[in-house]
Amino acid sequence: TTQSNGNQITHKPLAGKVAFINGGSRGIGAATARRLAADGATVAIGYAASTAAAEALVADITAAGGTALAIRADAADAAALADAIDSVAARYGRLDILVNNAGILRLGGIDQFSLADFDDTVAVNVRSVFVASKAAAAHMGEGGRIVNVSSTNALRMPFQGGAVYAMSKSALTGLAKGLARDLGPRGITVNNVLPGPVDTDMNPADTDFAAALHGLMALPRHGKAEEVAAMIAWVASPEAAFVTGADLAIDGGFAA
Ligand code: NAD
Repeated sequence: TTQSNGNQITHKPLAGKVAFINGGSRGIGAATARRLAADGATVAIGYAASTAAAEALVADITAAGGTALAIRADAADAAALADAIDSVAARYGRLDILVNNAGILRLGGIDQFSLADFDDTVAVNVRSVFVASKAAAAHMGEGGRIVNVSSTNALRMPFQGGAVYAMSKSALTGLAKGLARDLGPRGITVNNVLPGPVDTDMNPADTDFAAALHGLMALPRHGKAEEVAAMIAWVASPEAAFVTGADLAIDGGFAA
């Protein structure tokens, strides 16, 4: 908003907060990094391999007046992930927000789906959420926020070949409810955001598969990463203090 004297008033609901985003270099994670930084948080972007993308994102956020750093943290490597979170907390003297965004989508029917794909999916989509939450919670105080990027496929799996992905996201429903109980007494909330189809590398909006998904939705389109980031930012904000253990859909009515 602009005051009558022309001065810009910017609302920074996350001023003074420090956030770690697990898997933040592209897609929904990158949009979330930009949004949390715009809302005033200092943002640490965890990434597995894409150093150039993560550093370019940090440069963009810095140019826009925000504060960010990139830190290598393979979500499948429990020790490395916990170390990265500890080092961010040590560097800034606090940690307030954890966004568990890293995820992989392996598709295949039961006859083709390998044990290696099962284990990789569980390591990145589920185990990393436990590992990062455990590490982050040790540094969080009253007002701490853990936000997991789940999926509307936790609630509805209308296509063939997505059993293990759906299982991995459904697991987060139970994990968040339990962690909400563990951490509630300390004023820390734990929630899942459940996006429907979102236009990213994982799920481009211009395919036949995308068109089939749109046929299942009340709002027949892909969401934008920025729309999901806005919900994550609100769940991470002080305003959301009474929301915990919840599955929050942002899916164009996919699960409706
Ligand atoms: P994406 O493939 O662009 O992003 C996935 C992110 O996870 C990337 O930054 C990737 O580098 C990171 N990642 C993967 N393996 C990692 C590892 N071992 N260590 C660290 N980071 C790792 O797709 P996206 O759509 O932005 O996905 C983000 C999250 O949203 C995922 O959890 C995904 O399951 C979820 N999701 C996406 C959609 C969709 O339609 N795009 C819908 C529902 C949920």
